[in-house]
Amino acid sequence: MRLLLVEDDAMIGDSLREALRRQGFAADWVRDGQAADAVLSSGERFDAVLLDLGLPRLGGVEVLRALRARGDATPVIVLTARDALADKVAGLDAGADDYLVKPFELDELLARLRAVTRRHQGGRASPVLQVADLKLDPATREVTRAGRPVLLSAREFALLEALLERPGAIVSRAQLEDRLYGWGEELESNAISVYMHQLRKKLGADLLHTVRGLGYYAGPEKGGMA
Ligand code: CA
Repeated sequence: MRLLLVEDDAMIGDSLREALRRQGFAADWVRDGQAADAVLSSGERFDAVLLDLGLPRLGGVEVLRALRARGDATPVIVLTARDALADKVAGLDAGADDYLVKPFELDELLARLRAVTRRHQGGRASPVLQVADLKLDPATREVTRAGRPVLLSAREFALLEALLERPGAIVSRAQLEDRLYGWGEELESNAISVYMHQLRKKLGADLLHTVRGLGYYAGPEKGGMA
């Protein structure tokens, strides 16, 4: 398995790369955000990226946003020294698959790596979800509308996935909140409508509908359900 390690701390980077190599990984190491962005946009393929957030020249969140904006679904685990909720949220929102707070045990990193790459590659079992020309691939976490990739935050993705699992079925706000609570953050009471608004802005409003007092559904608009 080929990994890209993005870490500006020489001691952490060196020991992590050595540890990963001893585990049989091919680990490439770059020390700043611009170098990471250059490697990741060069067409080289990695099975996963370990990405520090606090980086010189270009921040980790920016590197990640740029990667996802190119439609690249390579699994990314964010490494952050700061145990701040805001950092984890920013990483996940920018498209990270998981995060680890430094210092972490190598065993934990290896377990997370296995999990994200299994989700990424082995997701063949989970079918692509689709209504009309809107598609969501749970395995690669790619969303397309009319064949064009659309970049969603982690929460927007989770929300859309919940709706597309049962096209046409009304899903209540409480059910949707349950899906998003998995990210470990307190939700504002209007969070779901805010995320729905975002989804409509990114994907178009014609396939995402609100049924007042009941919830939301994805699919062609049903007549008489104003
Ligand atoms: Ca750093």
